[in-house]
Amino acid sequence: MIDTSENKNTQKTVKPQEHTQKQLEGILALAQTGFLQWRKTSIAQRTTSLEYLSNLLLERKREYAELMTQEMGKPISQSLAEIEKCAWVCDFYVKNATRFLADELIQTEADESFISHDPLGVILGIMPWNFPFWQVIRFAAPTLTAGNVVILKHASNVSGCALALDQLFKDAGFPKGCFQTIFTDYDAIEDIISDQRIQGVSLTGSEKAGKSIASIAGKHMIKTVMELGGNNACVIWEDANLDKHMDTIVNARMQNTGQSCIAAKRFIVVDDIYEDFIEKFKEAVQKLIAGEPEDEDTEIGLMARTDLLEGLEVQIRKSVDQGAKVTLGNRSEGSYFEPTILEQVKPGMPVFDEEVFGPVAAVIRAKNRHDSLEMASNSKFGLGTMLFTEDIESARKAIGSIPDGSFFVNEMVKSDPRLPFGGTKSSGYGRELSKEGLLEFVNKKTVYINK
Ligand code: NAP
Repeated sequence: MIDTSENKNTQKTVKPQEHTQKQLEGILALAQTGFLQWRKTSIAQRTTSLEYLSNLLLERKREYAELMTQEMGKPISQSLAEIEKCAWVCDFYVKNATRFLADELIQTEADESFISHDPLGVILGIMPWNFPFWQVIRFAAPTLTAGNVVILKHASNVSGCALALDQLFKDAGFPKGCFQTIFTDYDAIEDIISDQRIQGVSLTGSEKAGKSIASIAGKHMIKTVMELGGNNACVIWEDANLDKHMDTIVNARMQNTGQSCIAAKRFIVVDDIYEDFIEKFKEAVQKLIAGEPEDEDTEIGLMARTDLLEGLEVQIRKSVDQGAKVTLGNRSEGSYFEPTILEQVKPGMPVFDEEVFGPVAAVIRAKNRHDSLEMASNSKFGLGTMLFTEDIESARKAIGSIPDGSFFVNEMVKSDPRLPFGGTKSSGYGRELSKEGLLEFVNKKTVYINK
C-alpha cells in the first residue's frame, strides 16, 4: 500500500510499506533462481532487453523527469537531460558489451590460455537521491549485461523513482528476478548483505554510508564498489581563458543545485587572476535563474531536503566564524538556498575540509601554480580535479601530482559512459561506466588448456 505525503524534504514522495522479512526472503530466492537462468543467456539476448529499456526511457522521458523533479526538486530541464543520459549509457553497452566481455587471449606456454568473464550472481545496489535515475541505470545496465541480477535499495526520499525503475525493467522484458526493488531499514540491509546469495554490493552515497556497508561486506568477503562523496577542486591558473570557460566553471558548481558528488566545491585561484576571476564569477552566478523546479527556464531548483539545507547553513556559519567572507547569497526560504560565494576560505574551515552539498562556492586564493596544486590535493576526498589554463604542457606535467580518480583540463569533471568513473581516498574505490565498470562484478577467470 502506498501513501503520497509530504516528507521531511518538503518535496512530495511516496512512502511504500517496508518489505517484511518473509517478503525479503522471497526476493532473494527469486533473485537467485533468476540468476541461474539469466547467466545462461547470450550477451545478445541481454542487450536486446537493454535496448528496449533505452527506448522506453526516451518514450517516457517527460513522465520520469517530472517524477524526479517532484521528489527531489531538480530543475525539469536537468531531469530531462538525466533521462537522455540514462538512454545513452544503455546504448553504449548495447554496442560494446560483446567486445568487452569476450575472452581475452593471453600467450603463455599453454596451447590456449585466456581470461573469461563470468557473472558473480546477485548484486545489491544501494543508491542516492541526487540523480535518482542515472545512478541506478549506470550501475544496473552493465551489471545485468554481464549476466548478474540486481536488487535495488534506493534512497528513501525517491521511492516513487524506485517504483518507476522497477516497472521499467519489467516492461523492458528483463525476466523475473533480474531487477527487484526493496524497501527496508538499515538492519535488514545488514542481514541481506550477510546472506550467502549476495555476491556483491555497489553503493553510491556518503562516506559514512560507505564505511558502514563496506565493513559489513568485508566481514563476509563480499566484493564492493564504493562511489562516495567528493570535494573537487577547480583550479584557475593566471592564464585561464575566463570569458570562454566561465559558464562551464559556474555549471561545475551549480548544476543539480549544487548537489552533485563531482561538483567543483573548492575554487582555488592563483593570485594574479584572483580579482578578475571573482568579478566574472560573481556576475555569472548572479545571472543564474532560480525558480520553480517545474519551469523549463529554471537553473537553480530546490534542495532535496530541508535537513540538508540546515546542514549547509551550519557549515557556512562555522566557516564565517573562522574568517570566511560571504561575497554573495547565503539566504534561504523553505528548501530554497540562494547561490552563494564565500571568499577568504582556508584549510581547517568546514567549507574547505568537508563536502558541501548545495549551491555554495568556496573560493581560495593561491600564491602560485605550485601552491594551487598543493591546495587542490589537500583533501581527504579524491573524486576529481579540474584545471583551467591555456598552458596545456604544464597541465600535462601536473597529472601525476593529482591523486584523484580524474583530472579534467578546461572542462568540468563529468561522467561519460565511455570513460571510467570513480574516486580515491574517502571518495571510495572501484570504477563505474566504460569497460572498467562492466568488469567490476565479473569473475575474471584464468583458463589454461593443454591439448
Ligand atoms: P547517503 O545518506 O549516504 O545515502 C545513500 C544511500 O545509502 C541511500 O539509499 C541510503 O538510504 C543508504 N544508506 C545510508 N546509510 C546506510 C546504512 N548505514 N545502511 C544501509 N543503507 C544506508 O547519501 P545521500 O544523501 O543519499 O547522497 C549524497 C551523497 O552521495 C553525497 O556524499 C554525494 O557526494 C554522494 N554521491 C556520490 C556519487 C559518486 O559517484 N561518487 C554520486 C552521487 C552521490 P536512506 O535514503 O534510506 O537513508
